[in-house]
Amino acid sequence: MMEAMDVRAIVDQHAPRLKKAIGIERWDVRITVERCPEQVKGQCEADPRYMIAEIQIDPEHAEDEDDVVKTLRHEMLHVLVSQFEVYRAAVHHLVDSEDALNAIDEVWTFATENVVHNIETALDQSSYNLDYMST
Ligand SMILES: [Zn+2]
Repeated sequence: MMEAMDVRAIVDQHAPRLKKAIGIERWDVRITVERCPEQVKGQCEADPRYMIAEIQIDPEHAEDEDDVVKTLRHEMLHVLVSQFEVYRAAVHHLVDSEDALNAIDEVWTFATENVVHNIETALDQSSYNLDYMST
């Protein structure tokens, strides 16, 4: 657990370069530091049509600076892959069954988290990321 103002300072320090490193600098990414309704370190909602994203970082689940930066990067990667939200919205529009939508959303979440995790792994293994993290 960290103080919200300390998390805020870390977010403000790292967000611009992280946005650039991930390639989402044209997005309007609004980041708040506050409790998340679920037991998560952070969450992200992104609308690719308007290129607006809202990220929440939960200070209760933040361990240290590195942890906050990794959480912020994770949530920003959700912005990067949010283009597929257009497909999800179309599916929701076309499918009537509540059960089917729940099943589709479960698969959706599984696939999205896996894609984000795979990008994180790739970034962790690249010298590019190491350069970023050390500056
Ligand atoms: Zn995630």
